[in-house]
Amino acid sequence: MIAAPRRIDVLSPEVIAQIAAGETVERPASVLKELVENSLDAGATRVRVDIEGGLDHLLRVSDDGCGIDAADLAAAFTRHGTSKIARAEDLLAVRTMGFRGEALPSIAQVARVTLTTRTAHAAEGTEVRLDAGRIVQTRPVARAPGTTVVVEDLFWNVPARRKFMKSPATEVRVASRMMSAYAMAALNVAFTLTNDGREMLQLAPTDNLRARVGAVYGHAAAEQLLEIHGEGPGLVVRGVLGTPEIARSSREHQYLFVNDRPVQHPLLAYLVRRAFGTMIPDGRHPFFVILLTVAPDMVDVNVHPTKREVRFARDGDVSHAVMRAAERALRALEPRFEVVAPSAHPFAADRTMAMAAAGLRVVTPDMLPPSERQISLADALYTPAPANVAPYTGESAEAPALSADERPGHGTPFWHLHDTWIFAPVRSGFIILDQHAAHERAAYERIRAQLLETRAPSQELLFPQVMELTAAEYDGLLAIQGTLDQLGFDIRAMSGNTIVVRGIPSDLKAWASGMFLRDLLEDTEEYEASSPALVDALAASYACHSVVRANQPLTTEEMAALVDGLFRTEHPESCPHGRPTFVRIGVDELERRFGRR
Ligand code: ADP
Ligand code: MG
Repeated sequence: MIAAPRRIDVLSPEVIAQIAAGETVERPASVLKELVENSLDAGATRVRVDIEGGLDHLLRVSDDGCGIDAADLAAAFTRHGTSKIARAEDLLAVRTMGFRGEALPSIAQVARVTLTTRTAHAAEGTEVRLDAGRIVQTRPVARAPGTTVVVEDLFWNVPARRKFMKSPATEVRVASRMMSAYAMAALNVAFTLTNDGREMLQLAPTDNLRARVGAVYGHAAAEQLLEIHGEGPGLVVRGVLGTPEIARSSREHQYLFVNDRPVQHPLLAYLVRRAFGTMIPDGRHPFFVILLTVAPDMVDVNVHPTKREVRFARDGDVSHAVMRAAERALRALEPRFEVVAPSAHPFAADRTMAMAAAGLRVVTPDMLPPSERQISLADALYTPAPANVAPYTGESAEAPALSADERPGHGTPFWHLHDTWIFAPVRSGFIILDQHAAHERAAYERIRAQLLETRAPSQELLFPQVMELTAAEYDGLLAIQGTLDQLGFDIRAMSGNTIVVRGIPSDLKAWASGMFLRDLLEDTEEYEASSPALVDALAASYACHSVVRANQPLTTEEMAALVDGLFRTEHPESCPHGRPTFVRIGVDELERRFGRR
């Protein structure tokens, strides 16, 4: 049915302003982004951000930049009021982060804003207060040159946006990561971030990117960086790549700047990942900070309302230069190595020969220092499930579980395909297991049961490990520390985002000098401290990071243990993320396919 035409009316200016504001101010952290960008554009050498009661309650950004002339304040809060460009041609030479003149009016539209500012040559400062986008009060104030913007009650008049907001704690962590991101390019600027009076970030000015990375990620991380340099027609590539050792489970820790503007560019990130090849296992992502300097007329910054994407005039040149620079830097790690499977595996010898032929140096586990030795799979594989496992409440896949007499029994032959899938005959046909998903299910149920019952046993680390976390990780740790204790961790939080780990769960083999803990914190950062969802998320994350992956050879005993472990669980049919753990092909289907029926 075709709807009857309705009258077309042009929206009122208020509605238009609300719609535009919604685009610029996607979430509370976007306010911080816009205000920090303004401070940097103003040439600030110090940027301070204070959060009180959540970003949406009170956010204050202060700088010592050039300030705003009192006569320009009304224009600054008018849509498309900007000092940064004047004519369309200027869009081809934008050097500042801002240019759209939309941030201040948009923020004022959806929050209560107070701005205080003074230029160097003004005798005194000026304060303006805005309500629903309009200046309602202007008065002289005393202050040093610079600008302070206070944003209160964000989205008080946009109930729809409030409803979809993440938790205040999540937003604070996003804010701290965002600020750290700007800090990676603006080295000469001092950054401070406080949350409810607690200092989260304190970054001194420096002329050295490695030192900045160290201030955010800790000194251990700063020692795991390779510098990269490259050039192409009209462009320069600089920055650092993290060694494979500090690769992470998410892409959060990849910083790409184009003319000091932080941007997302999936293709460039992919090319850097590819340069690492097999030095980093599947599912992990390299750390990097890459700073591209490109002639302003070779890059279009005006392709996204929040300016987070850019387009290059000569895409190919940029890709090529970044890829070559990454490859060159990684040569420092040569001879390349790849950890091979325990030598008990029947194909290990073949694999070793093939790798040697391909010019790869082969390292067997016993040649590595103890901390780098791959976990013995037999060790990691199988810890018996407790008798009464808590029911899995997630959505299950369709595959029906196998009845007890259908499961592969003792002496079952297994076939291992591509080090990823296990084939096993069962009475009614055969099943194919995904080794990672299957192992994950078993570990998930075990860990979840532990979290809901008693405190799991802990093993003391021989040497307590001091770890410097990022502000976001530290904040997340404080929130879930009680639950981590329950799992068998023994962690003391010190000041300055530093922790001391004294004990870890006694059956944990995948500790990897603490990377395991960082992965857990990353995966659970969206959950409120004592919510039931946190238990599920933590168990799923723990399981995922501690079990065998795809492309890992297994012995027959290991396969047997894995299959056995899966079928002892409550819900063998799916992994904690809801993907199937096995598929079954019945004899009846084979008969049908071969025309026997
Ligand atoms: P844009 O940054 O795109 O120009 P904004 O709405 O963010 O638009 O800011 C409007 C104008 O207000 C800017 O062009 C700038 O002149 C001025 N301004 C905003 N914040 C600051 C600040 N922290 N210091 C100095 N000037 C500022
Ligand atoms: Mg701006």
